[in-house]
Amino acid sequence: MGDISMHFSRQEFACRCGCGFAAVDKELNDVLEDIRNYFNTPVIINSACRCATYNQKVGGAQKSLHTRGMAADIKVMNISATIVADYIASKHGKCSIGRYDTFTHIDVRDIPTHWDRRSR
Ligand SMILES: [Zn+2]
Ligand SMILES: [Zn+2]
Repeated sequence: MGDISMHFSRQEFACRCGCGFAAVDKELNDVLEDIRNYFNTPVIINSACRCATYNQKVGGAQKSLHTRGMAADIKVMNISATIVADYIASKHGKCSIGRYDTFTHIDVRDIPTHWDRRSR
């Protein structure tokens, strides 16, 4: 049991630089809980909150939703990133989705956008 919702703890969302930034958008958290429950397997958060400095360091977009606690790059254990992205697209039409080979970016900006950075 997590400390911000059933399956997630704030620490999982925290900026990886150690600055302590760990604001988590409620809508994003709700979507992640739904994904966790749908696949019934752990959701691994590669990167969620990023302070501006860390975001720049990892080459994030300048206005990345990661800097506002409104985005997460996730992997669902034993489920391919394509299947995860397809599910989010079908069930959570208000989410923005970025498709990558090994993970899926999700964010909850006002006007959803989709992109595909898979190598094939
Ligand atoms: Zn930071
Ligand atoms: Zn991302």
